[in-house]
Amino acid sequence: MRVAMIGAGYVGLVSGTCFADFGHSVICVDTDAAKIDNLRAGRLPIYEPGLDQLVAANMRQGRLGFTTDLAAAVADADAVFIAVGTPSRRGDGHADLTYVHQAAAQIAAALTRYTVVVNKSTVPVGTGDQVERIIRETNPAAEFSVVSNPEFLREGAAIEDFKRPDRIVIGAGDARAQEVMRDLYRPLFLNQAPLVMTGRRTAELTKYAANAFLAMKVTFINEIADLCEQVGANVQEVARGIGLDKRIGGKFLHAGPGYGGSCFPKDTLALVKTAQDYGSPVRLVETTVAINDARKRDMAARVIAACGGDVSGKRIAILGLTFKPNTDDMRDAPSIVIINELQAAGASIAAYDPEGVDQARQVLRDVDYAADPYACAAGADALVIVTEWDAFRALDLNELRSRLRSPALIDLRNIYPPEDVADAGLRYWSVGR
Ligand code: NAD
Repeated sequence: MRVAMIGAGYVGLVSGTCFADFGHSVICVDTDAAKIDNLRAGRLPIYEPGLDQLVAANMRQGRLGFTTDLAAAVADADAVFIAVGTPSRRGDGHADLTYVHQAAAQIAAALTRYTVVVNKSTVPVGTGDQVERIIRETNPAAEFSVVSNPEFLREGAAIEDFKRPDRIVIGAGDARAQEVMRDLYRPLFLNQAPLVMTGRRTAELTKYAANAFLAMKVTFINEIADLCEQVGANVQEVARGIGLDKRIGGKFLHAGPGYGGSCFPKDTLALVKTAQDYGSPVRLVETTVAINDARKRDMAARVIAACGGDVSGKRIAILGLTFKPNTDDMRDAPSIVIINELQAAGASIAAYDPEGVDQARQVLRDVDYAADPYACAAGADALVIVTEWDAFRALDLNELRSRLRSPALIDLRNIYPPEDVADAGLRYWSVGR
């Protein structure tokens, strides 16, 4: 099948490349000409493990191309995916659908024959109806169906998630569109990926419900971690004790500095707004959002407390800036709030991240970027692990202690056994244990 993927970001580039790898013929379209030039030259705009080889292999086979010419890509396509950003709208937290609406109008003008327009972006209930209306108004003669096919991949494991998903959700009203979607995903059904074929509104809401549930699960264990600290219990053992119950499941039960990233913060907020608009508030999610916001600030307060209640004039070393390991994505990363709060309290910041520094430079000010974890620790009054990159899991703690001015390690991801840290002569704070 011929596929046009509108938006060559984290989702569009991974999905487009994986569809090409299944044997479809894929053109990824982006308005960002520099991004397209780089992709054509084999340079990827994002860090995602394994993606560079998969892009190169499929370009070589002639199944994957990149263009800024949306009209040409759409005119030839059996299916056009919309995979543009849907950030929080400034001021009110609703999803900003500007890019989706623009893409819909551009697609409409370029349709030449029956085409399935697939919304892969995360969009509020009813956006499929809007896209349909925009296309019909822009091009009344167009033959098309609008389908919702939300994406559940995780950055850092995106290829594996796309190729071996827990499920594929397709919201399509008519049989013709359903058939095209089945053909597109047929290679995955061979891997027995369950297909949830449903209505468009249900598919749209399913994505938000999934993200909100996961955000709630993280927030739940974070509150249990706080309680563990007060009562002398260990949150990792509590998480194991509850997670082995199949009704609960062990994933997303790691206590830490609060969820961040390009999806959970904006999607929980957008769901809250949609629910309020429909007079059916989702109070658990409202509370989750508030707790998580407060938690990021509280992490900075913990660092300040570990430094004796005052960080003014002190140097704090931060390990890990991205919102999670194995990505360069800095969107809504907890590190941003933590660093801003520490700077506001008078600290100077050194930081190290394996892949996130280019993006970090765009959102953080006055940070000294170090070449490795040990250089980061040099002369610091405390070392804070914010993101659990594998490279931080087996650091030479004695070497770190010798580099630090004051031997304090604040581990917001619980990646060290407290005994090991104590043996190295470091004072240690972790989360919920
Ligand atoms: P992104 O910002 O990385 O990529 C979006 C791309 O779309 C950008 O490169 C932008 O230049 C391009 N674009 C915008 N308007 C365009 C147009 N009219 N024509 C062509 N290109 C256009 O965003 P992302 O992280 O890939 O997210 C895309 C959507 O997928 C969002 O709705 C997001 O919520 C959802 N999603 C993201 C993830 C994730 O892990 N990042 C996971 C699941 C779902």
